[in-house]
Amino acid sequence: MKDYINIDEILKKQKQYFKSQSTKDIRFRIKQLNKLEVAINSYEGKIIEALKNDFNKPEFESYETEIGVILSEIKHAKKNINKWSKPKKIKSSLSSPASKTYLYNQPYGICLIMSPWNYPFQLSISPLIGSIIAGNTSVIKPSELAPNTSRIIKNMIEEYFDEEYIAVIEGEININKYLLNQNFDYIFFTGSPMVGKIVMSAAAKHLTPCTLELGGKSPCIVDKNADIDISAKKIVWGKLLNAGQTCVAPDYIIAHKDIKNNLIDKMIEYINKFYKGNPLESLDYASIINQKHFDRITSLIDYKKVAYGGNYNKENLKIEPTILNNITVDNKVMEEEIFGPIIPILEFDDINDILKIIEVHKSPLALYLFTKDKNLEIDIINKISFGGGCINDTIMHIANTNAPFGGIGSSGIGSYHGKKSFDTFSHQKSVLKSSILIDVSTKYPPYTENNLKILKSLFKFI
Ligand code: NAD
Repeated sequence: MKDYINIDEILKKQKQYFKSQSTKDIRFRIKQLNKLEVAINSYEGKIIEALKNDFNKPEFESYETEIGVILSEIKHAKKNINKWSKPKKIKSSLSSPASKTYLYNQPYGICLIMSPWNYPFQLSISPLIGSIIAGNTSVIKPSELAPNTSRIIKNMIEEYFDEEYIAVIEGEININKYLLNQNFDYIFFTGSPMVGKIVMSAAAKHLTPCTLELGGKSPCIVDKNADIDISAKKIVWGKLLNAGQTCVAPDYIIAHKDIKNNLIDKMIEYINKFYKGNPLESLDYASIINQKHFDRITSLIDYKKVAYGGNYNKENLKIEPTILNNITVDNKVMEEEIFGPIIPILEFDDINDILKIIEVHKSPLALYLFTKDKNLEIDIINKISFGGGCINDTIMHIANTNAPFGGIGSSGIGSYHGKKSFDTFSHQKSVLKSSILIDVSTKYPPYTENNLKILKSLFKFI
């Protein structure tokens, strides 16, 4: 009850603050970005420690995927915010001669940001950057499943920002539910498709626009003419980063039947090289977030199909990278997003096999293709619907701040990063400025035959 009253008070304060117009000044927004940058730099050690405590996230990965990536996004935003926020003159229409039309960017108001546990810092702060640069106030609800990081986010934001501008609300799912019942001006949600549906139906009650950044089963195709050594190395890295708990991790591999065994051998070689032959004890390899997910992931291991791995450590919740060979779409591991270090290998002979396999979990968040065949590349890009992806790489498409990131269908609605974050958190308002010197009289009643003729020829002309 006390929690709910506190939420009501914060929302009231944020409404007032937004109305004060302070957030609309571009200098104010740049100042907030500078503050956020200072805050992150001063909390760097605490963020890394919290991620270690939550799921043994290696320091290198914490800096790379949670801190560095955010600092570079802030720099990019500071460099470009003046350009992005300027009203843009757009082409006028012949139907209104002597008029000019402009696009103005308008903040929505109060934004709710709900984030998952797997990149708990990055996925709370990256949308926040979008919300700040667009001139909104923000309420962040980090995931309760990464409690140490959630606490650090709260401490950091409280130390540097007033809650009338940015507030962090912690708590269990009842808090998420309470927040979703409030009338926000925008909701930015990152999480599972299942909760995405709950968020969207809550948003519908208030007609609140929302972005849904969801997940799914992202395929990784390896063609017979691909460079097998590089493919194996990049797949193993992309899959085992964060111990497979990455929304854009290659979920399963579809390998050409002629190179499948060679690919598996090379993948095993790289797993051993990266984790010095002992992933379960490696400090460079994260744990699974909790017992529930640990049990879910280990239950996917079909020991008749194990080509590598299969062991786990119940004490530190680590699961060995586990390659499952000769998998088909009917196997249990192919039912849902794995979100862990299990690597099922399916095989294909021609593109029709690939299309059939991917159709089972269509519109994935990411797709990866390793090939030297330009025609296959074009075919895959044109024929398959997916959020985004890479040719001859994994994950790296999301690291480009110039590239929008988001899903399609069950993997999400909307996108962000870089300028797209600014656009996502702004309403683009078209304003026509008309001349008072010229006014076309034919549009006014009473409508005459002649005016109708003029209207028809005008529409043919424009
Ligand atoms: P989740 O959907 O269980 O939880 C996400 C958020 O929703 C959390 O803050 C949680 O507190 C809240 N939540 C959970 N149940 C709720 C309910 N019933 N009502 C209201 N709120 C609820 O997801 P997760 O387990 O934290 O994260 C894993 C999922 O997120 C995977 O599917 C993954 O692919 C996806 N993901 C997507 C992206 C992306 O950028 N597209 C990034 C990371 C993770």
